[in-house]
Parts: sequence; C-alpha cells; structure tokens
Amino acid sequence: MSYPLSLHEDRLFPSDPAQRAIARRLYSEVRTLPIISPHGHTDPQWFADNKPFPDPASLLVIPDHYVYRMLYSQGIPLEALGIPRTDGGPVEQDSRKIWRLFAQHWYLFKATPTQLWFNHVLHEVFGIRERLSPESADLVYDSIAECLARPEFLPRALYERFNIEVLATTESPLDPLQHHRKLRESGWKGRIIPTYRPDPAVDPEYAGFAQNVRRLGEITGEDTTNWKGYLRALFNRRQFFAGLGATATDHGHLSAATCDLPQAQCEALLAKALAGRCTPLEAQQFRGQMLTEMARMSIEDGLVMQIHPGSFRNHNPPVFGAFGLDKGADIPMRTDYVHDLKPLLDRYGNEKRLTIILFTLDESTYSRELAPLAGHYPALKLGPAWWFYDSPEGMRFFRERTTETAGFYNTVGFNDDTRAFPSIPARHNVARRVDCSFLARLVAEHRLEEDEARESAMDLAYRLAKKAYRL
Ligand SMILES: [Zn+2]
Repeated sequence: MSYPLSLHEDRLFPSDPAQRAIARRLYSEVRTLPIISPHGHTDPQWFADNKPFPDPASLLVIPDHYVYRMLYSQGIPLEALGIPRTDGGPVEQDSRKIWRLFAQHWYLFKATPTQLWFNHVLHEVFGIRERLSPESADLVYDSIAECLARPEFLPRALYERFNIEVLATTESPLDPLQHHRKLRESGWKGRIIPTYRPDPAVDPEYAGFAQNVRRLGEITGEDTTNWKGYLRALFNRRQFFAGLGATATDHGHLSAATCDLPQAQCEALLAKALAGRCTPLEAQQFRGQMLTEMARMSIEDGLVMQIHPGSFRNHNPPVFGAFGLDKGADIPMRTDYVHDLKPLLDRYGNEKRLTIILFTLDESTYSRELAPLAGHYPALKLGPAWWFYDSPEGMRFFRERTTETAGFYNTVGFNDDTRAFPSIPARHNVARRVDCSFLARLVAEHRLEEDEARESAMDLAYRLAKKAYRL
C-alpha cells in the first residue's frame, strides 16, 4: 500500500477562516525572502570541497540526534543506526539497512517537528511524492541516492537553490578555519562564515581544557598560564575569526552564571583550572568570569555574543561512554537568568554597543525573566525558541509569552541551529508560517493593522536576524 506525500499550502496556519486568510496573505510576502542562517552547525568542509553527499542514511539519519534519540527511546540500539562508537567497535555500515530500520519506525515521529522537516525535505528537496513507510523505504532510498549523484545536489548548488544569503557555522577557537579560508579563496559567491565558540578553552570542565589552553598559547604566541596572556590569546583568536567573516561568538554554558571578580582571584582560578583542581563551584565562577570578559571583548571588537545555557549534557553515562558527546542525551534544566546574569549586567548591561542574544531551554523563564530583562537592558536581545522548542508549539509559545513585554524588536528572527543541511529551508518555512499565524491572530483581533503585521512578518523572517547579527 502506498500513500501520497503532499505538503498542504495552509499547513500550520490557523483553522479559523478569517485568521487563515490573513496568515496566507502575510506568508505570501515572506515566502520567498532569502534565508539568513546566523547560527548553526553545518560543516564548512562540505562547501569548501563541494563533493557529493554520500548516501541517504549518512545524510539524513546518522548525523541527526533528533532522529536517533527517538529511535533509541524505543529500544533500538545506536549501533544498529550506524552511530560510531568511541572505541571503534562494530556498528551497522549498510546505509540501506539503516534506512529500512528508520522507515519501519517512522510512525514514531508523528506530530513531531522532525516529521514536518523530513517530509519537507523529501517533497521539496528530493521531489518525492510518496510517504515514507516500511513498504516505500527502498523506493525513497533509491530516489534520494539517485539525486545525490547529480551535480544539482552538490552542497554549493543546494546552498544556492535554498536561497541562503548567509550561513554561519560554529568552531572552537583552536580551529585553523582552513575550510573557511579555502571558501574565501575559491571565488564562490556563497557567504559562509565561522562563529567563535570558545567553550573548549574557557570551561575548566570541558574535556582536555588544560591541553586546549596550552594549544591556544602555542597558536597565538601568548603565555596562557597567566591571566593577561590567556585573555590576549582569546582576543587574538576572535580577531582571526572576524578576519574570516565571523560576526558572533557563542557560549554553551551549563548555567547563565556570570561573575565580575578581582584580577587576583581570576589569576588564582586560572592556575587551579589549568592544574585540574577546580571544584564545581570554582569551575562555574571561572566560566561566569569568562562571559563577562567576552562581553568586554565584544564591546571592543563588535562581535555579537550568544549565550546558550541550561543543557544538562550527557545525562546518560553509558551512552556517553560508548558514543561520546551530542548523542541525544542532553536534557533541559531550570535556569535562573535574573540572578545569574546580574554581575555581567551590572557592568555592561547598559552598553548600547553590546548585543547579547539569550537563548533558553527553560520555557518557564520567557515571561517571568527573559522578556522583562530584554525589554529593559539595551545590551540584551532574545534568541528564538531553541532546540526542544524549535517547533510549532514552541515558537507559538515563545511569541505568546514574550511579545507583550519585549515586543518584536528585542527578538532576533529565526535560527535553524542545525547540522542537517537539507532541512534548513524546512525549518525556516515552519518559523515563517508560525510567525505569520501569530500575526494573523493579532490582525483578526484588531490589535494590529494588516500593513503593520506585513512589515513585522518581513522583520521576523529576514531583517531582524540580519540586523542583530550585524550581517
Ligand atoms: Zn547551536
């Protein structure tokens, strides 16, 4: 039995006819705007080398933690999905077998954003008109594999077809950015820029921290065993990133804790951190101090700062032991922005030259903490609904909880934050539809004129991200 795959023109729009008609009109204004992707995790090497993507499972299943965390939750071993083990132990290598296993369990994704994104990818990117099912698995696999062999599915061709204006990747300060350099030298007009993510060298609890800081010293010719030299080395790498087009930094900390400590205490903390002797509280103080230092550097060099706190990483020790980081076992935590950000805000919160974009995995903070903070401090802006909340309900909730206090203009448009390159248009499409639906309700309730909503729809889909990230 086969079932047709179609994407309804009105998907995600309100079911009320009056609101739906307005949402359609608003969406028609933003549908074809270029994509600004200011935060994400695609691999710059894809675009630098411009080689074909390998096969359907390697492209769409193996790298996607949304996909395999769900399958794992239903008892499917990660080995069977081809996820590499850190000990190099055997895992499934047959792409088609992995794909069939995925297709057998595709029903698990009903009503999840993965279903929306995936169907969009099949329909719009690969031109498939049959729903994925155990029966259609091979047909869908073959259609995708055939596409991937064609020149119009090379990474750069897809970038152009997706109408991406700018795409930011994310790198460690130790990264030599050779793929970004190669891209610049290639003469290709696609704009792919790095983002400076210093976690490996500013978080004493990051694996290999002391080694990373030593390496940072070697790369920059600074003595990173003393506080001033360490800060100079980090600043030096920021300039290197900015030289290759970076406009932002990103900080993936456990909490939003910030500190503003006297220099002698910073010196002492650095010595302890390098010796691997920090207590958990001292490690938090160190990270918190580094956020304040990074804010100071941002005022100097103009890089926009993003803070992504609140993820309990590697919650499942056996999965972490066998498969390493980023394997779908990161779980959201309660986050306290009001107290945690105060030391940084006391120092730099009123700085108009500084932009700090805050993200959250704690939805309860939207109206209680984040919207009031961003609706007051000139240095603060709100990032879009993120990770677990990058979904129709998550985005709707974000607008409902933040707009009345922070407005639209203390937010920064949409981030797709993805490794899954073919899903970028799908994710922006969902965000545009949800925002147009939210605006349509305001128009239908006569809280906004339709021409005002039209301008805001364009701001949310395109202009705000460009402005906030200084692109
Ligand atoms: Zn990210």
